[in-house]
Amino acid sequence: METITFFTGFNRRNFISRTARGIFAATLAPEIVRFAASAEPMGSPAPTPTSAAQGEPLPQDQRVGFALVGLGRLTQGQLLPAFRVSKRAKLTGLVSGDPAKAQKLAQENGVSTESIYDYKNFDRIRDNQDVQVVYVVLPNSMHADFTERSARAGKHVLCEKPMEVSLMKCQQMIDACRKAKVKLMIAYRIQYEPMNRAMQRMVREKAFGPVKYIESDNGQRVEKMEWRLSKALSGSGAVGDVGIYCINTIRFLLGEEPMEVFARTFRPPSDPRFKEVDATIIWQMRFASGVLANCMCSFDTYDTKSYRAVAERGTFGMNPSFPYHGLKMFAKPEQPPPPQIAESDQFANELDHMADCVINGRQPYTPGEEGLQDQRIIEAIFESARTTRAVTLPRFDKLDPFRGPIPE
Ligand code: NAD
Repeated sequence: METITFFTGFNRRNFISRTARGIFAATLAPEIVRFAASAEPMGSPAPTPTSAAQGEPLPQDQRVGFALVGLGRLTQGQLLPAFRVSKRAKLTGLVSGDPAKAQKLAQENGVSTESIYDYKNFDRIRDNQDVQVVYVVLPNSMHADFTERSARAGKHVLCEKPMEVSLMKCQQMIDACRKAKVKLMIAYRIQYEPMNRAMQRMVREKAFGPVKYIESDNGQRVEKMEWRLSKALSGSGAVGDVGIYCINTIRFLLGEEPMEVFARTFRPPSDPRFKEVDATIIWQMRFASGVLANCMCSFDTYDTKSYRAVAERGTFGMNPSFPYHGLKMFAKPEQPPPPQIAESDQFANELDHMADCVINGRQPYTPGEEGLQDQRIIEAIFESARTTRAVTLPRFDKLDPFRGPIPE
């Protein structure tokens, strides 16, 4: 059996000789060139991931101020550290139901006591000139409420995925932000991650000819009872939590929208974790160009997070593709090779994109409409599983019908 080549560690000589030859020489992303310029000598420790945003870090007084709503695992483990390596964003507010936690995190992260809010007095954030963007990091069914309140307070909104738990609530969020003339971005970190962006170019520039088939999975085990296992708070269980990476990334790679979905679900009858949501879901998507996709997501499997595109003359993808660290690209055959790209801080990348949109008056690459389309597909997955029939989706002939301008 042939082995698939994984492209990981950076080697400057390899990088230059390989990329100078391949199809990628013409399309080298700025982030790759930047990394080549700043690469550590071979043998030294890997550099701390930083933002892949272009340009020098902005001085603090020119940065965009963000308030975080919800101080759970994502905020504490990923977002607070991301502000430290961001080039354009700064943390200026915290919103929490737990005053002691908020006070401690404010002190540790240089946020003033006056910029701490709870869920009740949150609307007073309107008067805080240091906060321009509210980043909603709450359980899914609370996203619309805080997005609408932020918009009414005149703040731009960066909202975690999945956008909400129903099409109606997604639409309400879009309408509220439009009415208040504030920006709404859904935090799809993969679409701002340079290796995944290189994969998108390989698909779109037909590095191995046209893609015919894509498979993707995102599984992990949820051991303890938590809001992700509640239908009311999560809306869609594993599909919206982890399966959305397969849906959203395939749409991002192709630029196309699925025209049909077919799904099956499994819920172990005696497992108390899966009384309200499914354990494992498989689904297929069919695209107008003829591309077919097979996907799986689960809250009850070993960690698996990958995708693989099969084209006319080769196969390529990422394994793993969706974790916070350690992403790896692969391709077979090895000519043309994928570029070598440094790991970046995925959350700093998206903070910097949102900040850039605010500074330069741009539309986010992943606006609310992008989140609403994923919700439409999620609902089609459940309808298909319920009816055991394929579900037809609205057709969009234009490529990237919901995305804003390509990030710089
Ligand atoms: P978490 O459970 O660790 O934190 C949730 C926070 O919300 C906690 O601070 C909790 O106190 C607060 N909260 C307020 N009301 C609550 C209620 N009724 N029930 C439960 N918690 C309540 O969750 P998390 O992992 O930080 O996820 C938050 C959001 O971020 C979700 O929308 C999730 O999908 C998203 N997320 C995104 C990524 C990513 O990679 N982009 C990763 C993890 C989570």
